[in-house]
Amino acid sequence: MTAQEKLKASKLSVTAQRIAILDAVTANPHCTADLVIKEVKSELGKVSKQAVYDTLHLLSEKEIIRCIQPSGFPSIFEARVKDNHHHLICRECNETHDVDCAVGHAPCLTPKEDFGFLVDEAEVIYWGYCPACLEKMKAKKSLEKQ
Ligand SMILES: [Zn+2]
Ligand SMILES: [Zn+2]
Repeated sequence: MTAQEKLKASKLSVTAQRIAILDAVTANPHCTADLVIKEVKSELGKVSKQAVYDTLHLLSEKEIIRCIQPSGFPSIFEARVKDNHHHLICRECNETHDVDCAVGHAPCLTPKEDFGFLVDEAEVIYWGYCPACLEKMKAKKSLEKQ
């Protein structure tokens, strides 16, 4: 689906700015709002930060995009929605990867106690260190030893 079709399918009015924002998120999976602002600016010339934030919020609410809020890092956005995938994030450099869920259908994790809830989603962030940051940490450690 094109950005235009996605907006229409969610009964949102189609504006150049919304298309530019949606295209930026589609082209840059796991992008921050700052990156979207930069992309939209280079596409349309001028844009208000608040308008981009508002649109990102609206598109997330309509589930056209997904907003992930890793603690301690700025929110990231992606156009891959409704497939119950998870994220692997590096604590050092914030590098983010998609990880398909364990069983392929939601929720892929079952809580030990569901308190009578109908659980339909499990959102998991795997935290760790990417290979590049691991290398850097190892190099630093061996320097400290000397
Ligand atoms: Zn890293
Ligand atoms: Zn993702």
